[in-house]
Amino acid sequence: RQEIYRELRKQPSVTKDGVAIDLLMNAGLAVDLPQLAESGAAGIGLFRTELQFMVASTFPRAEAQEKLYRDVLDAARGKPVTFRTIDIGGDKVLPYFKGSVQEENPALGWRAIRLTLDRPGLLRTQIRALLKACGGRELKLMLPMVTELAEIAQAREIVDREVRHLSRFAHHLPTSLKLGAMVEVPSLLFQLDELMKAVDFVSVGSNDLFQFVMAVDRGNNQVSDRFDPLSVPFLRVLKQIADAGNRNFTPVTLCGELAGKPISAMALIGLGFRSISMSPAAIGPVKAMLTELRVEELKRFFADNLSAPAHGMPMRALLQAFADDR
Ligand code: PEP
Ligand code: MG
Repeated sequence: RQEIYRELRKQPSVTKDGVAIDLLMNAGLAVDLPQLAESGAAGIGLFRTELQFMVASTFPRAEAQEKLYRDVLDAARGKPVTFRTIDIGGDKVLPYFKGSVQEENPALGWRAIRLTLDRPGLLRTQIRALLKACGGRELKLMLPMVTELAEIAQAREIVDREVRHLSRFAHHLPTSLKLGAMVEVPSLLFQLDELMKAVDFVSVGSNDLFQFVMAVDRGNNQVSDRFDPLSVPFLRVLKQIADAGNRNFTPVTLCGELAGKPISAMALIGLGFRSISMSPAAIGPVKAMLTELRVEELKRFFADNLSAPAHGMPMRALLQAFADDR
């Protein structure tokens, strides 16, 4: 199989009926970078910047942040990279961060964009490092755990301020700057059109989104496997996001674990996703699946089954049968 996947690396990422799908990889540290060439990924759909903070014993200095971001872009050789602002808090604790507090419900607590908007110095330093590292190249910046659009506006103000600051000092700025939001908190599902208009792109964080839609702690083994992401309600959620993106011409990606399993990647493509980001090892198997797939058939499958699953069968079983038949 490894041999097949290696061969596939040279093939275009296109379904049997000619639909191009961007297969991107998730990364977070410099050691991940060689995987970009080895996996044949079209780019980095999620760069988890908090990992540099988590493996350090103090806050990484601005220079160290800038160096990592520059190394990432150099390694990407022009392939697109989406940098996510630090997503700490919840289960990602920094022992040296004195501001953190013991929380009863850390997943619902002071984390990600909430934390960095409250400690704007942290965000400013990171954004400045990113702007400098991306001089002469594109910067795609993504905000984690957005709950309301005001958070995006606040982050944008910080970005704009840093851009003004750097241009005053005649720094080489990014050629373009795209600001995106992760869809991880269900409140965004009820303002999808406004969201799509407020950003340049969105990426579904299906790990957190599933956790919040199903009210299931993703880190608690007793419940984490109890419900299925390939179930009607969650698939409907995902379809609504893909539809809203298409309706508003806003690019949509999905970067949670779902993207890396061939059967769920297949479902995502059927629901309208044309870009998914996964661990590099998953790219070969997902590509092997999609080159055998006819999207039109799968669309028809969903048109028939997403409003009322045939024979009351679980969606996973129906999707598996669809895949086996072909
Ligand atoms: C997610 O929630 O799906 C996601 C990609 O972010 P993380 O797993 O880092 O929380
Ligand atoms: Mg998340």
